[in-house]
Amino acid sequence: MSAQILDGKALAQRLKDALKVEVADLSKKTGAAPRLVNIMVGEEHGACAYARSQRLAADYIGIRYELTTLPRDTSQEELIGRIRRFNADEDVNGIMIHKPLPERIHYGIVANFVDTNKDLEGINVANIGKMILGDTRIIPCTPAAVMEHIRATGIGLRGKEAVIVGHSHIVGKPLSLLLLEEYATVTVCHVATSEAGRLREHVGRADILIVAVGRPALIPGGWIKKGAVVIDVGINRQGETIVGDVDFEGARKRAAFLTPVPGGVGPVTVVMLMRNGIEAYKMQMSTRGDRIV
Ligand code: NDP
Repeated sequence: MSAQILDGKALAQRLKDALKVEVADLSKKTGAAPRLVNIMVGEEHGACAYARSQRLAADYIGIRYELTTLPRDTSQEELIGRIRRFNADEDVNGIMIHKPLPERIHYGIVANFVDTNKDLEGINVANIGKMILGDTRIIPCTPAAVMEHIRATGIGLRGKEAVIVGHSHIVGKPLSLLLLEEYATVTVCHVATSEAGRLREHVGRADILIVAVGRPALIPGGWIKKGAVVIDVGINRQGETIVGDVDFEGARKRAAFLTPVPGGVGPVTVVMLMRNGIEAYKMQMSTRGDRIV
């Protein structure tokens, strides 16, 4: 068996094409395209590369996108002040705070000042709470990208064994809720699962395996159940190359579907940010009385 490789760039393109049509339709109805702002404190090379890919995606879809760069010595209070101004501005529909931030600014604190209905990254505590209640209109982007990859396989999740390795706030935990919403039977593994020597056992019964840890070759190909869907979220730099958390060549021989790293989850993540922006826009328009949703 040789796994079908899930091409993230091709999937991202299909999703962008659909969003472009939606934005054109919305803009016609409301007279303006969604406007999203990304607030960056200081400039950092990696962060700028991500911002560039956001701009490219936004331009393609027809979304207005702005990068606001604040000086490196901006205080937490000044940043919160800026967020409040964007919250109050009716012509700003989505806000995100770019990471990394200078050490004195606490991301977990400032990100929660973003208006829940403008929370581009879906990481606001209120939006995370809404996920528990099954409201998944604005959700964290990486778990959303994982779900799109699974959807692209055409395999239904109902009754399937879904195993997530990694329980971070931004990937593993929210993803477990999204999978549960689709009636998968969900197992979440973490460092203590490995310490207990039980990671292999859980991985081995996964129909759907998602790995988000940040350790190259954590999952040997031989552990994977034949015919599984394997989504590798990990990004690990090894010299000039980037690899995931799954032994790609080994997994290829056993899985039915497999995401590559790079070129798997990453390209879809930025499109999910745009989709959140569009959902945010629709929610704001409907609360203002425009019947567009
Ligand atoms: P975190 O470091 O926040 O979380 C890693 C998780 O892996 C933790 O839950 C940790 O458990 C767990 N873990 C650590 N060691 C082991 C082990 N030996 N066995 C099982 N679980 C273990 O990382 P993120 O969630 O932010 O990111 C994970 C990976 O995904 C990284 O490589 C990151 O670069 C990548 N990533 C990719 C994105 C994309 O768009 N493609 C977006 C976001 C992240 P514990 O906390 O208990 O130690």
